[in-house]
Amino acid sequence: MASKIYQCMQKIGEDIIANKEFLTDLDSAIGDADHGINMARGFTEVLQQLPQEEEDISVILKKTGMVLLSKVGGASGPLYGTAYMKAAGAVTGKKEITLEDGKNIMEAVIGGIKMRGKAERGEKTMLDALEPAMEALNKGVEAGESVEDCLTHMCEAAKEGVEYTKTIRATKGRASYLGERSIGHQDPGATSSLITMEAIRAFYL
Ligand code: ADP
Ligand code: MG
Ligand code: MG
Repeated sequence: MASKIYQCMQKIGEDIIANKEFLTDLDSAIGDADHGINMARGFTEVLQQLPQEEEDISVILKKTGMVLLSKVGGASGPLYGTAYMKAAGAVTGKKEITLEDGKNIMEAVIGGIKMRGKAERGEKTMLDALEPAMEALNKGVEAGESVEDCLTHMCEAAKEGVEYTKTIRATKGRASYLGERSIGHQDPGATSSLITMEAIRAFYL
């Protein structure tokens, strides 16, 4: 039978693939109209290559990262590839995930994306969804919230972060070529990060 972590990755992949057109449309406004195509291509390959019965979470995350690194070009391939590789490193050998592990994964993911892309929050990138999400998760765990509430608050913060990207100018990535004209548009990468977190929430609830 397919392992729980495989099924979770399957849910992420299916939701990313289902949003192919939407993500590409967002990228057509401020980029080169390929974010959905890139991500859907990557996750189609991920779902084909992942060992379905593997229970070690880090093995699944690492394989996902490797496939994204090798199959997805542009900015998002190396960034998401690094993110999944770093996530794997945060849960080496684990078959179950606690909220504490979730916090460590988020920290590793954001650290990896920053290392690779040299961006900070406020530059209209995936970090604008991920950093507020991490803060909400940390806050929830500290307050002793249930897994359900932690994931819900994490996704709400990510959604607000995506909304916030509409109000700011891009200073990293392709969208930065547009300068002021990038204002008013939602960032595609922040949106795919939100879709990923919402898929995780939907899977675990
Ligand atoms: P490309 O721009 O090369 O066509 P994609 O369209 O697949 O790649 O991905 C674009 C997304 O990548 C952007 O919406 C943004 O969220 C993210 N991005 C671009 N540059 C960076 C960076 N330096 N750090 C973090 N995220 C970035
Ligand atoms: Mg693009
Ligand atoms: Mg491109």
